[in-house]
Amino acid sequence: MKIAFVGLGHMGAPMALNLLKAGHALAVFDLSADAMQTLADAGARKAASPKDAVNGAEYVITMLPAAAHVRSVLGAEDGVLAGIAKGVTIIDSSTIDPASVKEFAALAAAHGNAFVDAPVSGGTGGAAAGTLTFMVGGSAAIYESVKPVLSGMGKNIVHCGETGTGQVAKICNNLVLGVTMAGVAEAMALGEALGIDPKVLGGIMNTSTGRSWSSDTYNPFPGVIETAPSSRGYSGGFGTDLMLKDLGLATDAAKGARQPAFMGALAQQLYQAMSTRGDGKLDFSAIIKLYRSDQ
Ligand code: NAD
Repeated sequence: MKIAFVGLGHMGAPMALNLLKAGHALAVFDLSADAMQTLADAGARKAASPKDAVNGAEYVITMLPAAAHVRSVLGAEDGVLAGIAKGVTIIDSSTIDPASVKEFAALAAAHGNAFVDAPVSGGTGGAAAGTLTFMVGGSAAIYESVKPVLSGMGKNIVHCGETGTGQVAKICNNLVLGVTMAGVAEAMALGEALGIDPKVLGGIMNTSTGRSWSSDTYNPFPGVIETAPSSRGYSGGFGTDLMLKDLGLATDAAKGARQPAFMGALAQQLYQAMSTRGDGKLDFSAIIKLYRSDQ
């Protein structure tokens, strides 16, 4: 396939490299010349703009920080829609709000193009290993057509429903993740304060009803899970500022749907406090620092 790929950051660059490895022909664009050079060294064509990248493309993939960037990459004078051929599908893997997805899908439809939301989970490790999960929103026919392309970058390609539901799945999952991490952090810190060995408490939790991914894989208490970011100074992993962004998307979407999100709103404030005190780049499990007096 001839694929245009726009947005070669922490996630986009390894994803694009995997598409090259899978045998696709890529034209790439990013604001960073260094990011483009890395892909060019691996065999991609460096494009001068998104408009140039989509020239001759059969699929377009965007992997950008937020909805504002997607809006500009699509709609700018030298943007995707200025150069794309009719019938070519645009796959956006950025994490953005479902309402913007609908806006972009309408914009693309006016040009004769389908716009599919396909956010991912699996982080930078999954992007490099080609094991990402894609949550795809769009018609069944579009899902079938994008599946072979996404299979070059991921292991689980899930059809969530109509346009926007991929983002719904993503933000609801991360709402649970943000809340469970805060809950596990609170309980682990309380256990420490009350005198139980954190390893014993973590072990009990992980074979009991309190178990979750936040307790058994990413336990926030250092030393409980040796492979967790907490055991290496909260480096790597899933950054606090990214969790803060996703909880903002969840609470905004809840507001739009006139739906309460009590836990999500509180969790958002906790991660905001972490970010404000300068811990935004640490793994989000560093939220336990808010509870431990010596941190
Ligand atoms: P990033 O900031 O590392 O990369 C974004 C890239 O987009 C940068 O290289 C930047 O130069 C480029 N960019 C910005 N504006 C542009 C424009 N107008 N034209 C061309 N390029 C432009 O972000 P990331 O970590 O790769 O994340 C991308 C998306 O994936 C985000 O929406 C994020 O929430 C989501 N996500 C990230 C992770 C993760 O672990 N990093 C996991 C899942 C989902």
